[in-house]
Amino acid sequence: MSRPATGGNGSTRPPTVRIAAEPPARGRPRSVGDLTCDRCHRTDVAKIRVRWPDGAICGICFTTATHTFGTCPDCLEPDRMLPGRNKQGKPICRHCAGITTQLVCARCGREAERFRAGNCARCVVTEDLTALLQPGDNISLHRLIRVLADAERPESIYTYTRGAKTRELLTAIGERRLAIRHDAFDKLARSTAAEHLRALLMHHGMLPQRGPEPLARFERWLSQKLDALPDDSTRTAIERFATWHHLNRLRKRAADPAANLETVTHAAKQEITEAAKLLIWLADTHGVDAASLTQAYVDDYLADGPSTRKHIRNYVRWLNHERSSPSRRLDAPHRDAKSVPMITQTQRIALVRNCLEWERVGISLRVAGLILLLWAHPLNKIVMLRSDHLQQSPTGMTILLGTRPAAVPEAISELFWRHAQRPSNQQTTNTSTDWLFPGTRAGAHLHPGTLSTHLKALGIDAQRARNATLRDLVHDVDARSLINLLGYSPAVITQHAARTGTRMSDYVDLKRGRNHDRTNG
Ligand SMILES: [Zn+2]
Ligand SMILES: [Zn+2]
Ligand SMILES: [Zn+2]
Repeated sequence: MSRPATGGNGSTRPPTVRIAAEPPARGRPRSVGDLTCDRCHRTDVAKIRVRWPDGAICGICFTTATHTFGTCPDCLEPDRMLPGRNKQGKPICRHCAGITTQLVCARCGREAERFRAGNCARCVVTEDLTALLQPGDNISLHRLIRVLADAERPESIYTYTRGAKTRELLTAIGERRLAIRHDAFDKLARSTAAEHLRALLMHHGMLPQRGPEPLARFERWLSQKLDALPDDSTRTAIERFATWHHLNRLRKRAADPAANLETVTHAAKQEITEAAKLLIWLADTHGVDAASLTQAYVDDYLADGPSTRKHIRNYVRWLNHERSSPSRRLDAPHRDAKSVPMITQTQRIALVRNCLEWERVGISLRVAGLILLLWAHPLNKIVMLRSDHLQQSPTGMTILLGTRPAAVPEAISELFWRHAQRPSNQQTTNTSTDWLFPGTRAGAHLHPGTLSTHLKALGIDAQRARNATLRDLVHDVDARSLINLLGYSPAVITQHAARTGTRMSDYVDLKRGRNHDRTNG
């Protein structure tokens, strides 16, 4: 059997038969019946659509037949629908085939499958779109209706315009609430329907093309990204950022033929993705939205989590445009890959060793250093720990960092406990405080900057050992594994701790206090 001529490009011979479109591949009903179609000879057909002189015709064969046009080989009349079959099995017109089924549109008089109320799909689409778009004397709306109705398969346009979101958009155009302009579409809540309509309008020349492919790809990506975001203020906020900051900038860049749009769109995607994560975190952790974002939240966010969080910088700075009060201005440190101070796992292990062994350094500082190195807990949070953040339980000691308690490795729990139960900072007036790291001022905790400076005594560069990098290292080797790795026995660590000048009597008191707590706790 030869391939049917399709009227494809490149053919020098005019096609005698053209099939307007293949029946849709998807949505084809799965046959469940036991009837036989005389055209395609399938024997599992659920319903026979029509009986014609050459036999029983299934739905698929009917659609194909009514979409086959060309010159009838029997009567040689051009431009006919060729639904029938002659003795040789060639498609022929309904007259030659003796088909009596109504195959003429009651409205336009063209040969076509009657789609609705005697009208062909093209007329139905025209009628529906006219009702929605109310073109009046608007030439471009008339043109839009015409190009849509003239689509190769107006049935597809019909299905498309039945979608709720699409109808909403078309109605908005019809009521002149939505102009057919890119900037008007930019202001819409992003949806697949809106982007589809935009693409359709661009395809038919009703909207100008929007520049090069990386930009178009970015726009499609953005549309999907926004659709996937929580449908609350998060999506709106990210959409504003994406549209007003990135999209506008990208469009300007796209005008420059020398610009590397791939790089620029990649960076834009990263920033949008990270900004969205920030807002989701903000909503989940603090129950507030972008309008309530403060510098403290930003710092908090950057102190934890993977190093990719630094990509929120442009977003938080962009938010400043909308903030009139200078006190509410936001910033985030700029750290590109080259300037990120790094600490390696080997360095981290060496520093933990310093904390455990360097007897000349005060125990307080060594504990603070360990909390930083073992859990990547940021300095500004370490100084706010209180004695009761350390808890002894039957299963071991825990330290409450953030919202959930972390297990303190057995080998160092003695050291921690000793520090927590120590007499208050005796060198200062800051007594009767339960800060784990009291400052010199009464009632105050240690300043994180002071702690940072003091930690240098242990070889710890707090800037270097901070958050992001450290967080990754902690992820690879957790506190317990690291202490196990070092192979200290608890006794050895206790000896190191004991030599830091704690008097034996204190130690005995501490032991007593601890046991007391244990029995009561
Ligand atoms: Zn069939
Ligand atoms: Zn004919
Ligand atoms: Zn018609």
